[in-house]
Amino acid sequence: MDRYAVFGHPVGHSKSPQIHAAFAAQTRQALTYEAIEAPLDGFAAVLRDFIEHGGRGCNVTVPFKEDAYRLANCCDELARQAQAVNTLRVEPDGRLAGFNTDGIGLLRDLTQNLGVTLAGRRVLLVGAGGAAAGIVGPLLAAGLAELVIVNRTPQRADELARRFAAHGPVRAAALQAPGSAFDLVLNATAAGLGGRAPDLPATVFSPQTVAYDLVYGPAAGPFLALARQAGAGACHDGLGMLVEQAAEAFWLWRDIRPATAPVIAALRSA
Ligand code: NAP
Repeated sequence: MDRYAVFGHPVGHSKSPQIHAAFAAQTRQALTYEAIEAPLDGFAAVLRDFIEHGGRGCNVTVPFKEDAYRLANCCDELARQAQAVNTLRVEPDGRLAGFNTDGIGLLRDLTQNLGVTLAGRRVLLVGAGGAAAGIVGPLLAAGLAELVIVNRTPQRADELARRFAAHGPVRAAALQAPGSAFDLVLNATAAGLGGRAPDLPATVFSPQTVAYDLVYGPAAGPFLALARQAGAGACHDGLGMLVEQAAEAFWLWRDIRPATAPVIAALRSA
């Protein structure tokens, strides 16, 4: 059976095995998908061993996305822009192809599942780590009026905005003074994993604002509570994005597109 996996550290919490098992059952694909925790300094060796033992492709999560980008023999445009890879595919000649499906996953969840319009909208992106780098390109390609990036460490927001300056109207701002109310506020920080919300002023939210946390479940609670208290019109966590980026990876590996709605619904009800 073709073997797939998600690599991370830690990775025990990952819902990817459940999601890909559901996709495989739905599309009648014979494959296995497991979660593999690689040592912090040993991703390359564990990946090599996985491929030698039948690995056909994998997802890569924190903290190995930049390592995966360096290990890939070739990358698609979105991975090159992000300088981070979340999906690897072993090609028939043994070469490793790298992709970044985070941005596509977020855009599909926002526009197709949640009915959010992006063209002409002002968007605030909080965070400047790997996840933020993966979504800036696709967001700008959607025709935003403005993308403002803020981050706890402001230099990283500056660097990210500079890197994408040629792709559309993007600028960095101070975390506590990003500008007046936005149409969409995206939390791409890991603050929620420590039970915290980023230190944002309430004025970035209005009743017209959609607030979206890339993390899902209880970790999205602090940011979404802040947004709700500040009057945001709609609040969503990143479960839909997780399933959509997985569906894109599944398509890259198996050339078949699974239906995502039943998988999102099953995960929500669980
Ligand atoms: P990362 O590269 O480690 O970056 C972490 C980001 O969070 C940085 O901007 C960091 O700011 C910020 N941060 C961390 N703790 C903070 C705090 N207490 N207050 C304010 N900012 C804080 O991680 P990543 O890969 O970008 O992932 C970020 C989150 O997105 C993760 O929780 C991940 O699970 C989630 N994610 C979800 C999906 C999905 O499919 N739903 C996909 C990708 C990622 P500094 O620069 O100041 O350190």
